[in-house]
Amino acid sequence: MNQAARQLLQKTFRLQDFRPGQQQVIESLLAGRSALAVFPTGGGKSLCYQLPALMLDGLTLVVSPLIALMKDQVDQLNALNIPAARLDSSVEADELKAIYQGLEQGSIKLLYVAPERLANERFLARLKRLSISMMAVDEAHCVSEWGHNFRPDYLKLAQLARELGVGRVLALTATATPQVAEQIRDSFDIAQDDHVQTGFFRPNLAIHIHPTVPADRDEALFRQLSSQPAGPAIVYVTLQKTAEAVAAFLKRKGMKALAYHAGLKDETRHQAQEAFMSGAVDIVVATIAFGMGIDKSDIRAIYHYNLPKSLENYMQEIGRAGRDGQPSRCTLLASLDDLTVLENFSFGDTPDEEALAGLIHWLLGQTEQFDLSVYELSGQFDVRPLVINTLLTYLELEGIIKATAPFYTEYKVGFLTAQDQLLAQFDHDRAEFLRALFACGKQGRTWLTLKPIEAARELQADRLRILNALGYLEQQGMVELRVAGVRQGFRMVNLPGDSQGLIARLQSQFQLREQRDIDRLQQVADWAQQDGCLQQALVGYFGETLTQPCGQCSVCLGERVPMPPRQMGQPDLSIIDRLKKEEHAALSSPRQLARFLCGITSPRASRARLGRHPAFASLIEMPFADVLARCQQAGS
Ligand code: ADP
Repeated sequence: MNQAARQLLQKTFRLQDFRPGQQQVIESLLAGRSALAVFPTGGGKSLCYQLPALMLDGLTLVVSPLIALMKDQVDQLNALNIPAARLDSSVEADELKAIYQGLEQGSIKLLYVAPERLANERFLARLKRLSISMMAVDEAHCVSEWGHNFRPDYLKLAQLARELGVGRVLALTATATPQVAEQIRDSFDIAQDDHVQTGFFRPNLAIHIHPTVPADRDEALFRQLSSQPAGPAIVYVTLQKTAEAVAAFLKRKGMKALAYHAGLKDETRHQAQEAFMSGAVDIVVATIAFGMGIDKSDIRAIYHYNLPKSLENYMQEIGRAGRDGQPSRCTLLASLDDLTVLENFSFGDTPDEEALAGLIHWLLGQTEQFDLSVYELSGQFDVRPLVINTLLTYLELEGIIKATAPFYTEYKVGFLTAQDQLLAQFDHDRAEFLRALFACGKQGRTWLTLKPIEAARELQADRLRILNALGYLEQQGMVELRVAGVRQGFRMVNLPGDSQGLIARLQSQFQLREQRDIDRLQQVADWAQQDGCLQQALVGYFGETLTQPCGQCSVCLGERVPMPPRQMGQPDLSIIDRLKKEEHAALSSPRQLARFLCGITSPRASRARLGRHPAFASLIEMPFADVLARCQQAGS
């Protein structure tokens, strides 16, 4: 191995030796080739780009969808005196200025950005001026339609790497089936030899499947927790309310447990995480929101109270146990009854035909340059923002539209230098322009609110001149800016001849995704019910062969408990008629009603503040298709 690399490892990163796979990946990159690293979570993927970044001329651009992780990593790197920065929406103005300066001067070696940032033409123009030696793509499985977390904006990354003239790409993921890995390699032009995969098999994890019916689950969990040696444990559940209920139950039983989910206040969530990290609390009952970036090596047990969404998710979740190599237990208490709720969630992301057609007609009816607010559109068509973003990306990939820059309709200006003093620093013409500009705004107690489009009209000036002026004042530290009302700009590139065909094609793309989600769920159910070694089957799914059975899973130990058949809930269906009679505008179509009853949020229902209505999610245990059929009957 390159002597310089080893020295960096020890002196700068203060680590003894490379972990499996790291060296091979780093060698490929230093030789100028792109690579794919498939290491389990915690396997040390980040070092594979962090270290070569310091040896290569130019910048390493790290694309990661996980903002919280980005912050942790950048802090850690800075603590090692490595010049790294991140650009996300939480970066303040003065920090931003310093980052841009650092980039121009070449003093920043690693820049972390979220993929959506790369949809900004102005930011891309800045990047194009820099020399980018490497692009690291974290969570690279998002590039694959076969993967469990497909993000269309990832498909644009490969094209972008070419546009930016990036020297080499490192794709990183913890979960890739052979099919997904192949798609990643194809997208980023990575040779088979530069695909480095370390084993998925974790010999210190004992997997146990003990299916329980929902009514007995709390007690079963409690029995398991009390019969095993104490130690940090995570209990994964599907719904936020389950996290609360189970944590409360364990507390009543005298256990030190806390709930963690995305619906909690930031502060509460932070406290829960701290308490778990410090050992003040043993058990966290959490939705999948918990675990990203949890670097705790002595987690002794992972429980699945509900079924995971996919084997990829399962692998990642159990992968958080036993990072110290000590024996740890992974217990699945779930039952097939959980499938209904999980299946219903996949329907939340599939727009219905009328909404999709409406949206597409709206988009195709725009002028050559147009802009939109995803928030507004999602209310207008009652389609989730994520779906709209997905649709926009599909249209971009089809070559129909092209994203230009996002812009803001409203600027709040906070004066850090008194207005008179500020104006005194400019020549007469500029000072007059600024004075007139400020006069267009509305002065609040602390902030002056400006709408650039209106101000441009009033001053008969170019909107860009206004934005440049504000940007300059911000750069000079004279004002602080806050922006609101984001709109994404687009250019119409090529109108499709056949819009009906386009709608049908996109509709089937959305349906295909829905079907794949449902298939993945079924794979979890099948895996949990098969007769062979659980570890062998699990790593087999990821393309790895385990020659011997693990000898310690519940199947190997002869403790296989058959899963009871799936029970359908028998909920009170009269709720449908009662809810209909309330005549909520946001619930006027049968599909809107059915979604609401199945606990699937929609923009209109949320904005009408119906989330706390007692009927919300009241039929969550019934298959969506059945609820929809009932709602259609009720409507006729
Ligand atoms: P991943 O991204 O694969 O989940 P990380 O890159 O976050 O994993 O690394 C997990 C932990 O392992 C980090 O604390 C990191 O400092 C540590 N680590 C990485 N490489 C090494 C190494 N060669 N020796 C010791 N520790 C390492």
